[in-house]
Amino acid sequence: MTDGECSMLRSLISDSQVIVLCCHQNPDGDALGSMLGWGEVLRNLGKEPLLVTPDQYPDYLHWLPNSEKIVRYDKRKDYVDTVLKIADLVFCLDFNTLSRTDKMADALAASPAKKVLIDHHLAPDVDAVVSISHPDMSSTCELVFRIVWQMGLFEGQGKHFAGPIYCGMMTDTGGFTYNSNNPEIFFIIGQLLTKRINKDKIYRNVYHNYSEHRLRMVGHVLCNRLVVDETFHAAYYTLTRQDQKEFHFVKGDAEGLVNMPLQIKGLKLSISLREDSERGDLVWVSLRSVDDFPCNLMAERFFNGGGHLNAAGGRVNGTMDDAVKVVQDAFQAFEGKLKS
Ligand code: 5GP
Ligand code: MN
Repeated sequence: MTDGECSMLRSLISDSQVIVLCCHQNPDGDALGSMLGWGEVLRNLGKEPLLVTPDQYPDYLHWLPNSEKIVRYDKRKDYVDTVLKIADLVFCLDFNTLSRTDKMADALAASPAKKVLIDHHLAPDVDAVVSISHPDMSSTCELVFRIVWQMGLFEGQGKHFAGPIYCGMMTDTGGFTYNSNNPEIFFIIGQLLTKRINKDKIYRNVYHNYSEHRLRMVGHVLCNRLVVDETFHAAYYTLTRQDQKEFHFVKGDAEGLVNMPLQIKGLKLSISLREDSERGDLVWVSLRSVDDFPCNLMAERFFNGGGHLNAAGGRVNGTMDDAVKVVQDAFQAFEGKLKS
C-alpha cells in the first residue's frame, strides 16, 4: 500500500461511524480470518464494525474468537440490507468481484457506502475508493498483517488479532506447504507468535477436527471414486449426493481432499467434482496443481470460475455426467501443459 493509500485508509476509518466487513460465499479460513483480524483492529480503534458472511462457514472455524458475532446474510438479509443502506464504509475482504458474495452482491452494489478492497485474487473488479489488491500475497490475512504493520497498529493488537490472521495464512497455504516460499511469511509468523497464540493448537483445531464419517468418506473416495489419468498426469474424483448422504457429509468435510491425489508422484493436476447437496444439476469444482500448471485459466475456461495458479474453483451447471465430460475436455485442451 502506498503512503497515500495508508493515510486515506486512516481518515476513512476515523470519519466512518457504520462500518461493515464482508467476504466471499462459502468462507474459508482466509476469508473469516481476515474479517475477524481486521475487525479486531477496527474495534481497537474504537469502532464497532458489523461482520457479515454471505452464508454458513465451516465447523472447523467455529473456534475462532468472536466468530459467534458474525452475521449471516442468508439468515438476516433484512437486517444487513438496512445496515448497508446507512453504512459509511464497507471492507471487501478476500474476493475480487461482488458476484463472489452471491446473494449479497446486489445489496453491496446498491449501498452508498465507500468501499475498500483488501484482496489477493487476480483482476480486482470492485468499485472501491481504495483498492489494496496483491495477487502476489499468499493470503488476504498476510496482506491485512502488512497493512496493520504499515499503519503502526501491530503493537496494539493481541491474541484476537494474531490468531485469526495466523489461521488464514495457514489455511491458504495448506499449512505452509505451498505458495509460501517468501521468507517474509516466516517473519510475520514470528511476530504473530509474540502475541502468545498457540500455532500447534490452531493447526489441530483446523485439521484434526473431523468426524469418523469424514475419515471414512476420504477412504471411500480415494478407493472407489478417484480416476487417475496417467497419460495426462491428472486425476479427478466424484462426490455424489448419494455418497454425501451415506457418509453424513457436512460443510467442510471435503476440505483438503482435493490436494490428496497430488501425493501421487508426477501428478500435476487434481480436480474435485462435488454434487450440490440439494440440486442435481449443479456440481462444485475445485482444482489443485503443482508447479506452473494454471488452475485459474482452466477454471475460467471450463468451470465458470477462477482463482489462483495452483488453486482454483468453479462450477458446472449440469449433472455429474456432464461435469465428467467437461473435465475430459479440459484435460484435452490443456494437453500441452499436462504432458510436458
Ligand atoms: P476452493 O477449491 O477451495 O473452493 O477454491 C480455491 C481457490 O479458488 C480459492 O482461493 C477461491 O477463492 C478461488 N475460487 C473458488 N471458486 C471460485 C470462483 O467461482 N471464482 C473465482 N474467481 N475464484 C474462485
Ligand atoms: Mn484467500
